[in-house]
Amino acid sequence: MNPAPITARIGLLACEVCRLVSRAPSTGDVAHCPRCGAALHTRKPASLVRTWAFLIAAMILYVPANVLPIMDTSSLFGTQNDTILSGIAFLWTSGSYVLAMVVFFASVLVPLLKMIALAILAGSVQMGSVRYRRTRTRLYRLIEFAGRWSMLDIYVVTILVALVQVSTLASIHAGPGAAAFGAVVVLTMFSATSFDPRLIWDTQEEAS
Ligand SMILES: [Zn+2]
Repeated sequence: MNPAPITARIGLLACEVCRLVSRAPSTGDVAHCPRCGAALHTRKPASLVRTWAFLIAAMILYVPANVLPIMDTSSLFGTQNDTILSGIAFLWTSGSYVLAMVVFFASVLVPLLKMIALAILAGSVQMGSVRYRRTRTRLYRLIEFAGRWSMLDIYVVTILVALVQVSTLASIHAGPGAAAFGAVVVLTMFSATSFDPRLIWDTQEEAS
């Protein structure tokens, strides 16, 4: 495993909430920040295990999110089940190229790339890799940045629903794929916040 981080070896702890650096207690009790009262850890507890658990759950649910219908549209002409991909295909063939690309980017590509990036981060830390640490830290920042926009997927689905509802003769309901899709978005978010980017640099402290 990784060596103890340098702050732990010199007996200091940084608060993750208010950033105050304080002396670690000599007893084995859980330390609390003297200023804001938050629990103090040298690293996020069980960071890698949590990251993997959320990530694997998200990867599994990514399959039904794409295979199961995300919405059932019923109109005078019968009912229709649409998956994300068939919805994109419909948008594309009906000439809404920009919307089709936005949906594909936000709903298919971004979640997939995010999961691949998290697997690379967690996997490389687990193997104790010392290569590309700067690049990997940048990758983490990118995921964090993308996380702020991850609700974009939900907006896209909402816009789609609104578009279909405008044609008053049709009614639309969320299918089982939508629940799986929402779960993928939330689980990848949890996975990203569970990952402690400082783990990337713990290996270097030992080397230097
Ligand atoms: Zn604090």
